Amino acid sequence: MKKIISTLMISVFFLSCSNSEKEENTQKIKLVQNFESSIKILEWFDNEMPKDEIEYINSLSGIEIMESNVLLSNPDTNAILFFKEDLILFRENVKEYESEYGLNIAFKERKRTANLLSKIQTTNFDTLAIKRALQFFPKGTQLKTDANVYYVLTGWEWGDAYVRNVKKVNGKYKVAETGNPALVFNLSLFTKLYGETTEEQFQTLTNIMSHEIFHFAFNEFKNESTNYPLISDNDYKHQLFRTVQNEGIAHYIDIKKVLITNFSDFEKYQKENFEKLNKAIISFSSQQIGNEDKKKILQCANVGKYWEKYGAICGMFMSYHIERLLGKEAITKTIKNGAESFIETYIELQLQHRELPKLEI
Ligand SMILES: [Zn+2]
Repeated sequence: MKKIISTLMISVFFLSCSNSEKEENTQKIKLVQNFESSIKILEWFDNEMPKDEIEYINSLSGIEIMESNVLLSNPDTNAILFFKEDLILFRENVKEYESEYGLNIAFKERKRTANLLSKIQTTNFDTLAIKRALQFFPKGTQLKTDANVYYVLTGWEWGDAYVRNVKKVNGKYKVAETGNPALVFNLSLFTKLYGETTEEQFQTLTNIMSHEIFHFAFNEFKNESTNYPLISDNDYKHQLFRTVQNEGIAHYIDIKKVLITNFSDFEKYQKENFEKLNKAIISFSSQQIGNEDKKKILQCANVGKYWEKYGAICGMFMSYHIERLLGKEAITKTIKNGAESFIETYIELQLQHRELPKLEI
């Protein structure tokens, strides 16, 4: 078996505001990039999909994580096939079969993903992407865990990039509540959605990389931090606030430059999404709305088209206003203190700046 793992050690140095203090904070992220899940499927497509390789493909760690994420992302897990069965059916019936894991897209995009994959393998990610991802963390934060990055070609239709905790259960990688965080990129969705050229797709991937590295670092920071309160999973409102903070800051990092220079172009999204967020908060307190509907409302906070994910988008605008009016340190403080503090910081800010959209808590 070929070992196709490259390791990229990136150190980012932050200087304190006052250079004379010579206070320096070092934050290290070690990216362990796993390409094999993509390479193997591309080879499989090229070699007319040999049956005897299905077992091996199915055993790759990136594939196991991707499969586990698809099963968990679907509300009705019993209705979904395992990836191995999906591969077999796809192989037997390429033209007519509609894969539950997006094998049709992977097959259609295979030439473009091969180009993108080779660009990723031959280019070191700019240290700027890492620096952007870590800009709001407290000084002196140390990240201990390696960031395992998996490049795959299949998965859930909304999962172009995601971070999940994973652990080995009975010799197989599974998405779990606790475990080591893994970053997963579905390259078929990148080539399908993000531009015509490999260069454009690569630029988007670099932006999203900083977004996902933020999640990675934030996951680890929350696990490490004793200040971060644990929240019950049954509490929809608090889960929503966690999404607003976590996805909000990540989306802000992703789009900050464009948002600062062209804010007026985005104002309509701010209005629309705050309306949706306020409605969601009210619905979580309603006795008339059942748990299944509440779960769906919560899921929409961060699933779907970019400007329609009301939790993520409102959090992005909140981060923008908090940094603009209170400074970077105010966001850092909420990273230390949790989702509630992010929401409270915004509510207090809005009381001073009535032109900002109101949050109906
Ligand atoms: Zn995200």
